[in-house]
Amino acid sequence: MSSPEQTLSIIKPDAVERNLSEKIKSIFTKNNLKILESKKLHISKDEAAEFYKVHQSKPFYDQLCNYLSSGPIEVLILEGVNAVLKNRDLMGATDPKNAEEGTIRKLYGVSIDKNSVHGSDSIKNAKVEIDFFFNK
Ligand code: UDP
Ligand code: MG
Repeated sequence: MSSPEQTLSIIKPDAVERNLSEKIKSIFTKNNLKILESKKLHISKDEAAEFYKVHQSKPFYDQLCNYLSSGPIEVLILEGVNAVLKNRDLMGATDPKNAEEGTIRKLYGVSIDKNSVHGSDSIKNAKVEIDFFFNK
């Protein structure tokens, strides 16, 4: 039997602002991702820059950091079998225009930057990202 994994999800400012948190969380729980911890917070631009530092050479980095710090977010630790990949599947493609029907980004994403959710892309990064927000 595969052992459960943990991953980090962020409900981004555009989704929190439109009161979509409960709808998004119910997509996770219906798909066997348990919400182990959650908290709502508003991070600074410096914190966003630290969180997204893997993207620091990208042309969209500054805008991305401004955006993630532009309003309240909700951060979640999700746990379940294959949680990292399962969350990525539920999220859909980065650009909502390319996201599959039924995915969170297809349902709720507004644009490639306002795409409603973040999800860790590997088990290693999930550990780093969970540690970043929950100090574990
Ligand atoms: N992003 C953007 N413009 C781009 C590519 C990415 O604004 O051309 C933003 C987008 O919000 C994305 C985040 O940067 O969610 C991180 O990019 P990544 O490639 O890691 O996509 P993700 O893992 O979120 O699907
Ligand atoms: Mg990513």
